[in-house]
Amino acid sequence: MENNNRIHNFGAGPAVLPIEVVEEVANSLPNISSSGFGLLEISHRSDVFQEIMKDATNSVRKVLNVPDEYTVLFLQGGASLQFYMSALNILKEGEKADYLVTGGWSKKALKEAKRIGDAQCIWDDEHNGFRTIPEDGDYTIREDAVYVHYTSNNTLYGTQYHKIPDSKGKPRIVDASSDITGVHMDISKHEVVYAGAQKNLGPSGVTLVILSPWAMSRVTDNVPTMLNYQIHSSKESMYNTPNTFGIYVLSRVFAWLERNGGMEGAIKRNIEKSNILYEELDRTDFWEPHASKSSRSRMNVTWKIKNQELEEIFLKEASELGLGGLKGHRSVGGIRASMYNYLPKQSVVVLVNFMKSFEVRYASKGK
Ligand SMILES: *Cc1c(COP(=O)(O)O)cnc(C)c1O
Repeated sequence: MENNNRIHNFGAGPAVLPIEVVEEVANSLPNISSSGFGLLEISHRSDVFQEIMKDATNSVRKVLNVPDEYTVLFLQGGASLQFYMSALNILKEGEKADYLVTGGWSKKALKEAKRIGDAQCIWDDEHNGFRTIPEDGDYTIREDAVYVHYTSNNTLYGTQYHKIPDSKGKPRIVDASSDITGVHMDISKHEVVYAGAQKNLGPSGVTLVILSPWAMSRVTDNVPTMLNYQIHSSKESMYNTPNTFGIYVLSRVFAWLERNGGMEGAIKRNIEKSNILYEELDRTDFWEPHASKSSRSRMNVTWKIKNQELEEIFLKEASELGLGGLKGHRSVGGIRASMYNYLPKQSVVVLVNFMKSFEVRYASKGK
C-alpha cells in the first residue's frame, strides 16, 4: 500500500489512527476474518460480527479497567447526542444538575440538560477565554443536585483536568471524548462516561457510553426507545443496526493499544509528545500559549504567534512540509496541535523543528 504521502496529521478529529490498523481495515474490506463477507457487507447478527462486538466490549473493559457491574454501550449520534441523552436518562423533571463549564462542549452539554431539568452552570471561565480548569473549592455544588457534569479535556481551548474534580459525593458524569484512554481515568469514580470515538478510539459514528448500576437504575420506561440506555443495554447495543464498521475499527484500535502497553503505554507516549511541544512554546515569547500552565492539555495544544500576522504564513509553510490540521478552531483562532493517542512522536519532532526554524526566520518581526 502507498503510505508515503500520509501527512503529519494534527487534526482535531476524526484523527490519525495507527497505520497498522488502517491497513488491517483495508484488508478486511473484501473479506473479513476469512468469512467470505466483506467488512461493509456483513450482518450484525452474524457470528463473525458477534465476535467483533464481544472483542470490542472486552477490550474496552480491560484497557479502561471498567468495573464488572458497569454497562458498556456502542451508540450513534456522537458525544453531542449524549449531552441530551445522559440528562434525559438520569435527570427527572424539576431535578437539579450542576455543570462545570470549561469550554464550548460543556456549554452545549448544559444547554441540552436545561431542556430536561434545572441544570445550572456552577463554574465557568469564559470571561478569561476558557484558559483554566477549576480547582476544588472554586465552585459550590447544590445540596440537592442529582449529579455533576464535567468535560475532562477541552478540545477547543487545550485545557484538561489533571485530577477528577471534587463532586462533594455526588455522582459524576463526564464527557471524555478527547482524552479517554490517553490519560488516567478512574471509571469507577464516575456514573456515566461518554466519548465520541473519532479522537482517541476509532472512526466517527460510534459513541462509547459506560454506565454504572446507579445510572441504569435512574432510567424509566418514559424515555423514548432509541434514547433509552436500558433498551440499548438489554439488546447489547444491537436494538437496531449498529455502526458495524465503526465498532470493528474501534476493536482493532483497542487491540493495537493492548499490544502497545495498554493505557499506560499511551499515557507515557502522550506525556512525552506534549512535553516536547510545550518545551518549545515556553522557550521563547515568540509563541503565546493559550491555556494557563496548570490546566494544560496533553491532547490538544493551542497557541498564538505574538505577531498574529505571521499565523497565516506559519500554517502555509507547515502545510508545505506535510504538517496538517494545525489551524485553530474557528471560535479560538490561532494554532492547535491535536496529539491524540495515535499521533506518532515523530510528527511532534517534525513540528517542533519547523517551529524553531520559523522562529529564527521571523523573530525580528515577532516582537
Ligand atoms: C469532539 C467533541 C465532542 C463532539 O463530538 P461529536 O461526536 O461530534 O458529537 C463533544 N465533546 C468533546 C469534548 C469533544 O472533543
